[in-house]
Amino acid sequence: MKLTEILADAAGPLISCEFFPPKTDKGEANLWQCLQELATIRPDYVSVTYGAGGSSQDRTKRIVIRIRHETELTPVAHLTCVGATREDLAALLEEYREAGIANILALRGDPPEGTDRFKMVKGGFAYASDLVRFIREQHGNFSIAVATYPEGHPESPGGVEDDIRFLKLKQDNGACVAITQYFFDNEAFYRFRDRAVAAGVNIPIVPGIVPITNYTQIVSFSAKCGAIIPDWLHTRMQPLVDDAEATKQAGIDIAAEQCADLLAHGAPGLHFITLNKSEATIAVCRRLGIAKESI
Ligand code: FAD
Repeated sequence: MKLTEILADAAGPLISCEFFPPKTDKGEANLWQCLQELATIRPDYVSVTYGAGGSSQDRTKRIVIRIRHETELTPVAHLTCVGATREDLAALLEEYREAGIANILALRGDPPEGTDRFKMVKGGFAYASDLVRFIREQHGNFSIAVATYPEGHPESPGGVEDDIRFLKLKQDNGACVAITQYFFDNEAFYRFRDRAVAAGVNIPIVPGIVPITNYTQIVSFSAKCGAIIPDWLHTRMQPLVDDAEATKQAGIDIAAEQCADLLAHGAPGLHFITLNKSEATIAVCRRLGIAKESI
């Protein structure tokens, strides 16, 4: 099913879950187990991230196509401009089209490991908005999602003003939904959304949610991607770092509180960054009564 159809049919909040392609057979077995468990709450779609290297990119493709063929879930393939020419991207999009994949999350992408700046390849794209336009113009059968940053992308010199401007450009170039970087300060999301709407953004802006299961890991991710760790979160989570069970329970409580507030303030859905773990996302959705099995 295309994202445009899912959005048009949505009767309640849009629930989606994000996974990464594991490097090992054991990791992949765990991913399928996790997908099976999450399928019980019937997410509207599931997305698979796309790495900077060739083998990781092949794993994304294989997993996305397997989800399409072997499950009832609707897959969304993340796709980036990193290391790819137009021809490379066109070939992959054609493979996806032939496999019945209808949805792409179009990104510029993170720089490959060991480098700190994105470098456009000759014959490729510098920005996600260019990839969105290319997909719409040359491969118009796909629905296109994009990323956005309520707390600002780390490379945006003009802060969130820039991010709003470029989100509007992605919308104008053909995106039908935006998914945010994860954040913990809902007020930042509300300010961003209101400013985006005032700037003419009318596609749904779906908050990215990360239920914390490993606080040290989240602190390290956040430093890289620009997500802010508020003092209240640090005060609540840091004392629990050596207690995995207490961390998981607190992570569920915090995510459930955050999601309830977001939905009460009109968020059109929730995009869970699962880190290939199902328990916390299922617990949050059940607690909020948005797991589709229970409706
Ligand atoms: P862009 O929108 O192109 O923005 C990149 C930078 O360029 C920003 O600083 C922006 O302000 C600036 N910019 C944009 N357009 C212009 C313009 N026209 N002129 C001048 N400056 C401009 N990374 C991966 O590698 N794989 C993934 O699977 C992946 N999935 C993600 C999913 C979500 C929901 C999110 C929020 C992020 C994801 N990322 C992923 C991370 C993302 O690739 C990085 O944040 C990357 O640095 C920016 O990608 P983008 O698509 O937002 O880029």
